Amino acid sequence: MKPIVLFGSPGSGKGTQAKMLTECLGIPHISTGDMLRDRIRHGEHLEKVEATMHSGALVSDDVVNAMVRERLSLADAARGFVLDGYPRTQPQAEHLCAWLDGRGKREVVIHLAVDYNIIIARLTGRRQCPHCGTLYNVASHPPRVDGLCDLDGEKLVIREDDSEPVIRERLDAYERQTRPVLEYYRTAGRRVIEVDASDHPPEMVFQEIRQAMEADDRSKDRR
Ligand code: ADP
Repeated sequence: MKPIVLFGSPGSGKGTQAKMLTECLGIPHISTGDMLRDRIRHGEHLEKVEATMHSGALVSDDVVNAMVRERLSLADAARGFVLDGYPRTQPQAEHLCAWLDGRGKREVVIHLAVDYNIIIARLTGRRQCPHCGTLYNVASHPPRVDGLCDLDGEKLVIREDDSEPVIRERLDAYERQTRPVLEYYRTAGRRVIEVDASDHPPEMVFQEIRQAMEADDRSKDRR
């Protein structure tokens, strides 16, 4: 079983790398942000969860831990999984460690390190087609016609939690609650693979991740 935790601030490219990893390894991509949005769309969550997400703060550990536990127990996760956006607090990390310990497994943590200014530019420049969901960035990946989707001509919008005050809150929550989780992993003796994801294209970052994981596997074999 290969349990992988993709760790990084909002805008570090976790979602993109998680997709590439899961396609390559044939294991599921588990994004707590996507799962929560999905549940809200299906009316399964209290308004409180929706309001918390729109403010940029973190949803309660109990809600997220229960959701992840349920997801990890599904058959397709038996061979491994890529967690994207979880754990985000120390109690979540402890919860995951306990779940894995109970199965004699250890997670590999991949930290996507990205310069703060690049993060701000990525998040504030993000635009989405409300119709087909395609993502653009006004600086790095603009649409052919300003403000309109290349695929269906729909007017692009800013995701509700990509507005500037909410971005600030999301980055604050990351610094306060999530970054310390890295320290927790290091002191708990977990393997943390550092990848510089600042200004390389996604394909190159992916190669770096693969090489670092292979080197890590080799050193584990020698231990
Ligand atoms: P990003 O990483 O760009 O902030 P996500 O889609 O991962 O976006 O998360 C969006 C929101 O969902 C977060 O701001 C938070 O409110 C909620 N959320 C997602 N994952 C967690 C988690 N593990 N714990 C608490 N809240 C979460």
